[in-house]
Amino acid sequence: MANRKPLIAGNWKMYKTGPQAAEVASRLKSLVGDIMDVEVMVAPPFTALGTVAGILKGSVIRIGGQDLFWEAEGAYTGEISAPMLKGAGCTHVIIGHSERRQYFGETNATVNRKIRAALLGGLIPVLCIGESEAERDSGQTFSVVQKQLEEGLEGFSSDDVQKMTIAYEPVWAIGTGKTATTDQAQEVHEFIRGQMETAYGNSVAKAVRILYGGSVKPENIGELMAMPDIDGALVGGASLDADSFAGIVRYR
Ligand code: PEP
Repeated sequence: MANRKPLIAGNWKMYKTGPQAAEVASRLKSLVGDIMDVEVMVAPPFTALGTVAGILKGSVIRIGGQDLFWEAEGAYTGEISAPMLKGAGCTHVIIGHSERRQYFGETNATVNRKIRAALLGGLIPVLCIGESEAERDSGQTFSVVQKQLEEGLEGFSSDDVQKMTIAYEPVWAIGTGKTATTDQAQEVHEFIRGQMETAYGNSVAKAVRILYGGSVKPENIGELMAMPDIDGALVGGASLDADSFAGIVRYR
């Protein structure tokens, strides 16, 4: 896996009140708060960011937003900006998650604007891409992923792209219990890295971390991480329980 340090990220989605998030964060801190060979990040709901940041202070666990709006401030009721996430203690932000694309009208164009805002605000974008089941079944996996990359990253320099993380999340594997086989995942990760190489050169392609997401659990993380182009995981359901998430973080 070249010199890429693995990143295991947890997406808590719309789960956990403040006290519930505090409980998971405290347990997580005690289980993996000092781990050095893997980077760890959790993305709680906005309402729990401050609480979780307070608890995780002094640990190596990083915090991410689950989304952001591209303006820094303004009359945009309900939205959260990059400076707000940064101020709440975030280092990362998930952008273009398939649930946002599916339910909230996120497009490659809005993803592009959000990535720009994240970089401007000093946050590491975690760009989510991936095909639906129908797209896979009709042989469009590579073309869909290629389009998401080309349009989502349009206008960014190699320097910008080097700062990002990409998460390949086949939509049919998210929250369904259906994990892509290691070969299916590796094949798309290799394709994504190839696209990075064509567009931004070999050193960027080698440096960019590509996470796999889709029903990752303690039981399947080991075989996924053994693949040469899988550099970590974006974990939904199994990140809601500290012990199960720690089992993923400690996959070795
Ligand atoms: C996700 O939300 O990014 C995800 C991969 O969810 P799950 O692990 O539950 O499939």
